[in-house]
Amino acid sequence: MHTDSDILELEDAAQTCTDVPMVESTANSRTRDLDRLLLRSGHLVGPNFEPSVELRDYLQEYARVLVVGAGGLGCELLKDLALSGFKNLDVIDMDRIEVTNLNRQFLFRLEDVGKPKAEVAAKRVMERVSGVNIVPHFCRIEDKDIDFYNDFIIIVLGLDSVEARSYINSVACSFLEYDEKDNPKEETVKPMVDGGTEGFKGHARVIVPGMTPCFECTIWLFPPQVKFPLCTLAETPRTAAHCIEYAHLIKWDEVHSGKAFDPDDPEDMQWVYKEALKRAELFGIPGVTYSLTQGVVKNIIPAIASTNAIISAACSLETLKIVSGCSKTLSNYLTYNGVEGLHTEVTDFVKDNDCIVCGPGVLIEMDTSCTLQKFIEQLEEHPNLHLSKVSVTHQGKNLYMQAPPVLEEMTRSNLSLALFDLMGRISGGTVHVNGTSIKNNKKTSGLRKLRVVFKGVDGMADMDTAGGA
Ligand SMILES: [Zn+2]
Repeated sequence: MHTDSDILELEDAAQTCTDVPMVESTANSRTRDLDRLLLRSGHLVGPNFEPSVELRDYLQEYARVLVVGAGGLGCELLKDLALSGFKNLDVIDMDRIEVTNLNRQFLFRLEDVGKPKAEVAAKRVMERVSGVNIVPHFCRIEDKDIDFYNDFIIIVLGLDSVEARSYINSVACSFLEYDEKDNPKEETVKPMVDGGTEGFKGHARVIVPGMTPCFECTIWLFPPQVKFPLCTLAETPRTAAHCIEYAHLIKWDEVHSGKAFDPDDPEDMQWVYKEALKRAELFGIPGVTYSLTQGVVKNIIPAIASTNAIISAACSLETLKIVSGCSKTLSNYLTYNGVEGLHTEVTDFVKDNDCIVCGPGVLIEMDTSCTLQKFIEQLEEHPNLHLSKVSVTHQGKNLYMQAPPVLEEMTRSNLSLALFDLMGRISGGTVHVNGTSIKNNKKTSGLRKLRVVFKGVDGMADMDTAGGA
């Protein structure tokens, strides 16, 4: 606990450092720390920072923050953000509380088991931090309209899956618009702060679509989930994990025709363990244990409360910095590693300019009468694209698909229709195309984002056509 004299000394020291007087001091102890950041300037503030009472009021009364996930990281994030002065929080999570969560998801109690995480987490933080309002959403992130996400000034991610991050990232980036010179329009930028932990390791990153790399730009940072080729499992096992996956994926089906393996049934797990052990003995492989069997089969990654606390603290601080501008933000990816000693590092990753999620995409200008067939031919001849065998989607709707045959047949009739009509007679929009291109005599397939603009509609015709790639 600080004594009053401590605080005075700290204040004096801070004043000397910045040489800038506070705009207005306040006796309210709840906002005292926040006031020190938001009511005065300093050498470390962001480029557009204007200290003011209005800024503090905005942050507290109007800024809406979405926390995605109410698990280990999510609980910490809600608490940290509420204590950092944010008063309007929403939290979305589709899970219910399990007994095994209680060691680290500290907002939950034994009597909460079975209840939705989002609802209990919101209730508990509101009980402890007066004045904060948290709206829980007990549903899948995909269940919400895209517009739901646009209501928030910032989205903070406390997730444990690559797919969910990728989804939220694509939603946040879908709000992003570029001007004629391919600069992101500031008012369409939806920043994200992404946290993640795995055992003693964690990361905190700042994603400002159009400015910093988005999640998709650096998707390669996530190693693919360990999956073993079936032939290795069946013929040449080399590790204990190979033996376990053999028992789990191959032997189980051979013996239990039709009965699904239940990872939560101890008998099933015991069976896999014993089969794995037999297999390991046959090939002279050591190391198969019951707990390793559980770990491999259930893909268990240990969760550590203190790692969550550290990563959440970093994420909440970045959120406060981005929303208020009171300091420059992390640029742009912090890694924390507590496995041996303690290491933190910040890496400034660069944006992938061809990113199909956050990039502006190649601009294609078209006549409103141009058919989908013509459009596809145009992509083949396009100097930057050279795409052949193209499938086309618009806002998730398949306009034409090369495969599978049933989809090809279903979408074939679209080829003779005008793209303008297929896209709902709008002046232009983003179209995703999937095709094969030949570069340096090598065939590669890939997805491309294209900005299609129709000539003479809503005065968009004079837009620069040289953009992209
Ligand atoms: Zn990107």
